[in-house]
Amino acid sequence: MAALNWLLEAGADEAISDAPVDRFTQRSTVALAAASAAKTTARTNPPLSQIKPANLAPLAGDGFGSAMEIAARSGSLPELRAAMERFEGSQLKKLATNTVFADGNPNGGIMLIGEAPGYDEDKAGLPFVGRAGKLLDKMLDAIGLDRTRVYIINVMAWRPPDNRNPDPSEVALCIPFLRRHIELAAPQVLVMLGAVSARHVLGLNDGIMKLRGRWLEYRIGTAMIPVLPTLHPAYLLRQPAHKKLAWRDLQALADRLDALGLPAAAGN
Ligand code: URA
Repeated sequence: MAALNWLLEAGADEAISDAPVDRFTQRSTVALAAASAAKTTARTNPPLSQIKPANLAPLAGDGFGSAMEIAARSGSLPELRAAMERFEGSQLKKLATNTVFADGNPNGGIMLIGEAPGYDEDKAGLPFVGRAGKLLDKMLDAIGLDRTRVYIINVMAWRPPDNRNPDPSEVALCIPFLRRHIELAAPQVLVMLGAVSARHVLGLNDGIMKLRGRWLEYRIGTAMIPVLPTLHPAYLLRQPAHKKLAWRDLQALADRLDALGLPAAAGN
């Protein structure tokens, strides 16, 4: 019973087969393949810091591969922004008014990641400027933060028409840019706004109610960055009763910022 309770607390609350599998006695072919791929990569790929912007030639056959290449070659946030604004491989981008790159302060150490631009964000070219954005500003203000302290981006830089859900190939094209964006901003804390960003940044399919308020980690180079998933402000507009949960998450964020020497409330 104690072992079962321990599993439940660790989040393993679903049975996935009738009989247990002892994975410690299995040879991990996945691990072996990953180790051999890592060796090959180490031999053939120069470190990102050596890939200079001078190599930024137009790439033939845009798509996921070129998104990866373009993102990797971008050595700074302005270069990444310019590369995304030039990117020809996304159908969504062709339909969008603007590339919604980011808002706020990339040097403040705190990065918030939302889902996708809506109508207002597409028009303004900035994330979270509509109703959800106004609520986000209030949430930040409640712990003494504002856009001069935090850096805000979305998983998707281009608005899906009529706010429909982007299809997997549309999301896939944004992922290399998203990962490079996080890497270049090098935040000390990440906040995931809603399940979509938690899914695409952390690779977790759990619902946001299960993930929210739990500190997780994201790797940037050799560093592990603390990540806090919380409720999306657009969800809170629909479910105001859940604001108290978001408030708990914000307090946890403020405590973590204090511990990191990045106090949320001015004057702390
Ligand atoms: N919702 C998001 O996830 N991002 C925005 O920029 C606006 C609304």
